[in-house]
Parts: sequence; structure tokens; C-alpha cells
Amino acid sequence: MSTVFFASAKVKKLERNASLPAKFIRLLDALEFGEKIKDKTVAIKIHSGGGYGFTTIHPLFIRILVEYIKAKKGLPFITDIVAPDARRGYTEEVFGCRFIQATGLRDTNYFTVNVPSRYGIKELELAGVLKATDFLINFAHAKGHGNCGYGGAIKNLGMGFVTTKSRIAIHSVVNTKPYWNQSKCKYCGICIKNCRSSAIKFNEEKKLVIDFHACVFCMRCVFLCPQKAIELEKTNYEVFGRALALSAKKILEQLKGNYCHINVVLNVTPFCDCLGMSSPSIIPDVGILGSSDIVSLENVTLDLIDKQKFVDGSLPGHLRLEKENGHLFEKIWGKDPYIQVKEAAKLRMGQLEYNLKEIS
Ligand code: SF4
Ligand code: SF4
Repeated sequence: MSTVFFASAKVKKLERNASLPAKFIRLLDALEFGEKIKDKTVAIKIHSGGGYGFTTIHPLFIRILVEYIKAKKGLPFITDIVAPDARRGYTEEVFGCRFIQATGLRDTNYFTVNVPSRYGIKELELAGVLKATDFLINFAHAKGHGNCGYGGAIKNLGMGFVTTKSRIAIHSVVNTKPYWNQSKCKYCGICIKNCRSSAIKFNEEKKLVIDFHACVFCMRCVFLCPQKAIELEKTNYEVFGRALALSAKKILEQLKGNYCHINVVLNVTPFCDCLGMSSPSIIPDVGILGSSDIVSLENVTLDLIDKQKFVDGSLPGHLRLEKENGHLFEKIWGKDPYIQVKEAAKLRMGQLEYNLKEIS
């Protein structure tokens, strides 16, 4: 069983020392990495977000982390595959340290590792900045994700620390299982008209394709197709979460235990920060969680998110609670968010059991 430290967003006393940033500093103390980073390079892996998004990690928390590392005589730098956006307060001046693009300006700074074929990909191109990293702080924002239900610490590494080519390869694994029988299809368009997520279309070669990021696995197309030409199985999306976990494992292997993981569970939206927009939080703010065990951290993060009261009216566009049962993210996306966490446990990246210790 691994320990996960938890700084709650709730403020019990009207004192600065009882606020989340103050508790965050005490959480960093509890993680006990300060002794390991003297004179070492410390990469802080963030997700820069995109476009009009405003729900990425608040720059104050990044600055606090940078100052903490400097106070421990570490050599911090911020990193991500995309450049930070000044409109979100993401500048070197605000961070208090350098930003280094994880795979270089032209996505050419990487090294390749082979992966087992059962994941649908042959190799992964990992961020070259790992070669210059002595210690990694995986600083993730916990939120929903269309492809796998959830994106947090595992996704921040598995998807966010590889080249564009590898990101495309991981996204493509969802299409490897056939789901449409062309010989049965009469091109009536019933499936397209009845898909509330606008996830189905015919491509230029007149082949039916489903966008599994948008698809919520409601199965309407399967049930309504008069020819029974569509067959959807969970394997169509489960493989994505598994590939994410494997990718994160390959990254952590490079660091030989010199890392810790932090999930910021504030402004929890239903979709990923790379979408280029934000929508209202779907639950009240939870707080910040940290651990050296990525599996325990992700497991408790998902458990805590599911315990919160869903905020009515917070879902944007066509999204709705499709299912009555399962995790909140599964109700929204039709995809079990624990798949990636269980796969990470299977890959011996950590333990599902956790001991949650609240920071006072
Ligand atoms: S509903 Fe069935 S038959 Fe009609 S277009 Fe869709 S897959 Fe083809
Ligand atoms: S399962 Fe539902 S959301 Fe997915 S493609 Fe079919 S109708 Fe659209």
C-alpha cells in the first residue's frame, strides 16, 4: 500500500496558512524529495493547454513549486511538448525558471524505445529532455478525457512526453478493431442522423469511420442500424488507456525512481486541456494530491472525483450523463477511466491500494 498525500481545497480557518497554496507547500515537504535534488536538474512536466483554455494549473502553484525546488538547491525547469502560452500566465518570468520544450522546437529531440506488439504500436519516441533530467515532477491537472474517460498523471507523461508521431500512433490504436461491415451496409445514414455526438461519418472512400474521442459508447448506432452493420466493443477504447499506461511506464523507466507525481484536482472539466477551451467545473474543487506511486495517486484521484456531487448544468454542448452507473467520467464518456490505472498496476508501476494522508 502506498501513501498519497492530500491537500484539501476546503479552507477550515480564514487564515492564509489554512489556504490551499500554504497546504501545497506542506504537501511538498511530506513528499520528501527535497533531499534528493541538491544540485540536480528537476524537470516540472506541466500541460500547457491550448487556445482559450483557462482551467490548466494556476501559475501560482507552478511558481510555488519552482521556489520550493530552488530553496532545496535544485535546478528547476518547466517542460512540455508545446510552448507555454503567456495568456495563461505561463511565462518564464512568472514561472521563475526556464522553459525547455520537451521534444525540441521542431519535435526532433527524442529517443526511441520498442514496445510489445499487443499495444498496437511498435515503438515510442520519448522526449529527449528526459536525458537532461535528474529528477522529474509530474505536475498534472486531473480532468476528463474523450478517448479514455480520464486524463491525469498517467496521461501527462504517456501522451504529453512523446513526439507528435507517437501521440498520433497512440490515438490510432482505437481504430485497430473492425467495427463496421461494409458488405452489410446500405448507406441509409440512420446511424449518422441518430448519433448525438456527431461521431460517425463516411470518409472520402465511402467507409464508415467513428471518432472514438467523441463517441460516448451509447450504442444507439449499433441498435438502430437495420442491417446490423456496426459492432462496437469496449476493446475499441480500452486499448487507448492501456497504451497510455505503457507509454508512461517507458518514460518512468528512464528515471530509475527519481520522480514524484502531483495531481491538481481543481477546475475539473469533462475534457482535456488541449481542446483549446474550458467549460464550468463538473464537481466542486477537491484539492491537490501527491505521491511517488503513480498508480495509487491516480486511483485515489478518480475515487475522490467520483465522491463529489456533480454540478447540474455544467456539461457543455451535447454532453450529458449517458449512463446511470459507473464512475462520473464513465457516465459522461461511456469509457471506464480506471482502465489505464489498472493497466499501470499490471505493468508493476505501483499499487492500487492507497493510504490517504490529509495535510493539515
Ligand atoms: S445505419 Fe447501418 S446500414 Fe445505415 S448507414 Fe449506418 S451502418 Fe450503414
Ligand atoms: S455509440 Fe453512440 S456516440 Fe458512439 S458512434 Fe454510436 S451513436 Fe455515436
